[in-house]
Amino acid sequence: MTESSSFQPVLDRIAEEIAAAPARGRPADYIPVLAEADPSRFGMAVAELDGTVYGVGDWRRPFSAQSITKVFTLALVLSMEGEALWRNVGREPSGNPFNSLVQLEYENGIPRNPFINAGALVVTDRLQSLTGDAAGCLLDFLRAESGNPELAFDETVAASEAGHGDRNAALAHFMASYGNISGPVPGLLAQYFRQCSVEASCADLASAAGFLARHGIRADGTTLLTRSQAKQINAVMLTCGTYDAAGDFAYRVGLPGKSGVGGGIIAVVPGRCTLCVWSPGLDARGNSVAGVDALDRFTTLTGLSVF
Ligand code: GLU
Repeated sequence: MTESSSFQPVLDRIAEEIAAAPARGRPADYIPVLAEADPSRFGMAVAELDGTVYGVGDWRRPFSAQSITKVFTLALVLSMEGEALWRNVGREPSGNPFNSLVQLEYENGIPRNPFINAGALVVTDRLQSLTGDAAGCLLDFLRAESGNPELAFDETVAASEAGHGDRNAALAHFMASYGNISGPVPGLLAQYFRQCSVEASCADLASAAGFLARHGIRADGTTLLTRSQAKQINAVMLTCGTYDAAGDFAYRVGLPGKSGVGGGIIAVVPGRCTLCVWSPGLDARGNSVAGVDALDRFTTLTGLSVF
């Protein structure tokens, strides 16, 4: 497709094809409130570098962002303390489920990457130390970058997760025992569950991720990250952003992406656009079935990929 053509026809075609594809997966149920989501929902948005947004289906309907927020907290911490973060968290794919404990013991409490839960807890702990309000800092950033001042946490989702958060609590306490968490664990968990509970639409999240396609430049033209740091985040998204299915996602979609158990996925075409797709039915590894399918169709139809 040409640089100037609209993404609308391709989005309309993808939505038609997805509507005809019956497989949808099942919503996450380990956070009870998320199990109520309707797997037939589907939305997709593409944001251009200048902020123009195209969308189809439920693209303006808010959903639970969950792990997609991990990209934004990582960007904020890197913008504030740079390379120092990588002393506390690695950047290799884990090959394990997102909430796994086993690798942490072998690797002395240093999580493999910032997108598994253990790594995200480390990043949120850093953001909390740096700002005193990690979740609030994230929300301010998302509001500014999406242009939507109404973005908010869903306290019901945060409470539902807190009520079933033993696994995340175990990860945080375990890392604290290695000295890799600086603040008190209960406060960190409260911040993390609020962070994950952000309700945002495909339009909001595609727009908010725009700085990753603009090589680190925020919506208002100021610099959040160096070009090199934006590249680094995109690289970690490509290799670690879709749980233990990142290889398959790279194979099918060919873009840096980050999924969440709410059924959303953001993806980046550096220098061109950002995407967000949402459909709450997940596959066995936690990625939205229709979401991955739609992104696969997008890169196939447009030829836009990093490869
Ligand atoms: N809040 C979820 C958890 O910590 C996020 C998981 C995800 O979206 O991958 O379990």
